[in-house]
Amino acid sequence: MSWNLETKLLHAGDPEPRIQGAVSMPVFQSTMYELEGEAGYHDIRYIRLNNTPNHLALHRKLAALENAEAGLVTASGMAAISTSLLSVLKSGDHLLAQNGLYGGTHTFVTETLPEYGITVDFIDAADPGSWKQKLRTNTRAIYVEAMTNPLLHVADHKGVTAFTREHDLISLIDSTFASPVNFRPIEIGYDLSIHSCTKYLNGHSDIVAGAVMGRAERIRKITHLLNHLGGSLDPHACFLLHRGIKTLSVRMKQHNESALKIAQFLESHPAIAHVNYPGLESHPHHGRARELFSGCGGVISMELKKGLSAANQLISKVQIPIHTVSLGGVETLITRPAATSHSGLTAEDRKRFGIPEGLVRLSVGIESTDDLIEDLKQAM
Ligand SMILES: *Cc1c(COP(=O)(O)O)cnc(C)c1O
Repeated sequence: MSWNLETKLLHAGDPEPRIQGAVSMPVFQSTMYELEGEAGYHDIRYIRLNNTPNHLALHRKLAALENAEAGLVTASGMAAISTSLLSVLKSGDHLLAQNGLYGGTHTFVTETLPEYGITVDFIDAADPGSWKQKLRTNTRAIYVEAMTNPLLHVADHKGVTAFTREHDLISLIDSTFASPVNFRPIEIGYDLSIHSCTKYLNGHSDIVAGAVMGRAERIRKITHLLNHLGGSLDPHACFLLHRGIKTLSVRMKQHNESALKIAQFLESHPAIAHVNYPGLESHPHHGRARELFSGCGGVISMELKKGLSAANQLISKVQIPIHTVSLGGVETLITRPAATSHSGLTAEDRKRFGIPEGLVRLSVGIESTDDLIEDLKQAM
């Protein structure tokens, strides 16, 4: 039977028959499991080996959500990203990476990978014509994000997978900002789809977790490395993630609809200079977002006409949005990237990436859209 995504969120991969009839997946809070009969190394079940019942149920569900052969859950989004990259790349290899990556990933590829003899060059992911000149004989992989933070640029994703097929590269995508509801990268030919489940997949701002999906053979290799690097998810966090995933589709519908309405409101407000949201016709990648995504998620960024001082005033005057980092949860959050997520960059780099000091980022939660608009109105 082939289920739609909404049904898979609830039922795909769950144990059959139900464990003791339990309707929700129980937590298996046990470090190791008793061996049966003539057991060898491969029969060992142990939390670090990512093979307890909580891990295996999540792996099946995550794979089903993106129509991938296999899935793997990890201790954080960064564990999924670093372990996947180290599994694909070896000393002497070259990586092409999108400009403006998530801060932790940017630092990992520019500072850590070179220490292991792996070099990286950055590409404008919206301009496929410029990629060939960066290609080297030792280029092995290409790494992009579904949408960039905080400008919400949308890479030419079909261009990326066509390019990787033509040049025999491995394609990796961090699809955190889209979630499997809005975009399923494996379907358009990506090799590995990675998520920080800390964001939309769990959605409740109470755990850190990651995931990677792809062909079974690639996931097997990444699991082997993860078993040694040690980034496995604790069973209780597995349980919370499993629970959070059940409501992903209803949450994403609300994030998509509410953020679009709020972006439209902001764009028409006299105190606002500019709004970045791919669901708006004014966004440079609106057409591509419409073609590839079924919604643009909850993240919006904006510049106020009066710059930094107006940005700080807005952040201090709003009542509903919580002033903090991260995104993708049920609560609306507000932050100034130059002071938080992008404070590790030099002012010059921020300018080069188009992130002004006064840029404000909103992660729209699932509160009433009208209440959020009223609150933003009074704060501006
Ligand atoms: C948060 C985030 C990460 C890192 O995830 P953690 O779960 O915090 O390790 C990676 N990529 C993107 C796009 C993110 O938003």
